[in-house]
Amino acid sequence: MKVRLARTAGFCMGVRRAMELALTTAHGRPGDIHTYGPLIHNPQVLDLLAGKGIRVMDEIPPPGSRQGGTAIIRAHGVPPEDKQRLKQAGFSRVVDGTCPRVVKVQAIIRRAARRGAAVVIVGDADHPEVVGLKAHAEGRGLVVSGPAEVADLPPLSQVVAVAQTTQSQATFTRVIEELERRFGQVEVHDTICEATHRRQDEVLRLASEVDGVVVVGGKQSGNTKRLAQLASQSGRPAFLVETEADLDRAQLARLGSVGVTAGASTPNWMIKKVVRELGAIRSQGQARLPFWLSRVFRFLVRSQVLVAGGAAGMTVASSLLQEHQPSLTLVGVAFFYIYAMHILNHFLDKEAGQYNEPDRAQFLAKHQGFLIGSGVLSAVAALFLCAMLGTVPFVLVLVMSALGLLYSVPVIPPRLERRIGIHSLKDIPGSKTISAALAWAVIVAVLPALAVGGFHPFSAALAFVYALVMVFVRCAFFDILDVQGDLIVGKETIPIVLGEAKTRRLLLALIVGLALLLALAPLLGLAPALAWALILPVAGLAAMQVVLMRGLMMPGAASEGLVDLNFWLAGALALTWALAN
Ligand code: SF4
Repeated sequence: MKVRLARTAGFCMGVRRAMELALTTAHGRPGDIHTYGPLIHNPQVLDLLAGKGIRVMDEIPPPGSRQGGTAIIRAHGVPPEDKQRLKQAGFSRVVDGTCPRVVKVQAIIRRAARRGAAVVIVGDADHPEVVGLKAHAEGRGLVVSGPAEVADLPPLSQVVAVAQTTQSQATFTRVIEELERRFGQVEVHDTICEATHRRQDEVLRLASEVDGVVVVGGKQSGNTKRLAQLASQSGRPAFLVETEADLDRAQLARLGSVGVTAGASTPNWMIKKVVRELGAIRSQGQARLPFWLSRVFRFLVRSQVLVAGGAAGMTVASSLLQEHQPSLTLVGVAFFYIYAMHILNHFLDKEAGQYNEPDRAQFLAKHQGFLIGSGVLSAVAALFLCAMLGTVPFVLVLVMSALGLLYSVPVIPPRLERRIGIHSLKDIPGSKTISAALAWAVIVAVLPALAVGGFHPFSAALAFVYALVMVFVRCAFFDILDVQGDLIVGKETIPIVLGEAKTRRLLLALIVGLALLLALAPLLGLAPALAWALILPVAGLAAMQVVLMRGLMMPGAASEGLVDLNFWLAGALALTWALAN
């Protein structure tokens, strides 16, 4: 089945910010953490937060009844007096997660109320955001949920109208028309959040281009329900599902294509699981060959065979860049080593995979026995091949294998652990990305130099930097896509430490720097002309980043495979160049 994922699907800025605040608070502080009301309207995410010690508090405790702990205000915001009561309750810290856009609406309401205007809020009276907004009107707030309720309002002389940030544009417009008809001039503030506008516009566009729409999100979430309503009003069948288990496969198989969108409180991993299930449905009338070819490609990605093949390709490119004949033994070491480390590390550190790559996690769990066995055999095969290359390559790969396997294992002694807050090497911020890039660079660039026994310093350094930057960019880029899952398990990846925007700038600088280096090296006589051809995979990596960041393709097995094919491309270009020369 063809699946199209809406670019706007998933957490909006406000919800993501509140989640990040809650999770970073949970990782940094062992004490009690309570959110005042559910952080988001999604039961699965709330269960998960409870597992992290972040519990929901429905009522504010009486003054002085708490002895410390942290209270978190969710993205919807609260009445000003509730903030005060939280402080008086005795929490040692009150973290305000109110979305900055909701804060702006609160400010508009306060200003209007202070100059004596009546503030009409278009929204659901019981919604916590609206409850908070109304309280900022200092007794001058009135709530209407639709145009019919305007007639019930008392006579008003000065009217200011605002909207709940997730209100539908059509309802808001109709209410404003009614208000103007009844009260004459109305000061209108269209406070519907831009994220809501975009999400609603996109679902309408998507519905016109596919045979059906699946909306993923909590059934209690207002904005999720509104998306499903909009999709069904467009005449296409719409399915509101909380998880992939709710999908009606028989009915969906009758459709050729589906669009997927999600409410502002739906995390990425839940969307990914639904997308995966939909992709596995063969629509009635769908050609068998493309369906099975795409399944084979996904299998190669999930089983790590594709990325291991990429390491083999990089070894060929790196050997030829250093003007050595690529040897089958070196290619075998790279393939087996990378396969073994990727597979075994997944089983040693499964938690993040459940959120970041549910698709792969499910695949690996299903074939656990075979994959662990093949991972161990591959590690042995890599060491055996290294022994054939000499003592130094053997010892080097042995040490790297041990470090690779110990990476996720708690090796830090408890006393030191308590002092530095690190249990294993993986807890060192950014260590996963840096260590993966270093390991690849040693395997694909240093080993060929060691195996030959002599090397040209500049071309060896260039090959090392080429592998290091390519793999660093690949991993850091996937880390950007995986931020939600990494935050949940408390991984400090580079985007979590630096922030997404800085990480992207860093990746751009690395890509441009590497391309310049490859362009200049042959001109200065420091590397063969092959360096020019190797700019193409660098450009391929950059292009995939643009494609994924702009939402032109869904993150998942297919896009990961396309990223990794750039390593294959490097090997293919190098072989072609060698044959042509
Ligand atoms: S929908 Fe908009 S206003 Fe509401 S929390 Fe999300 S970003 Fe903030």
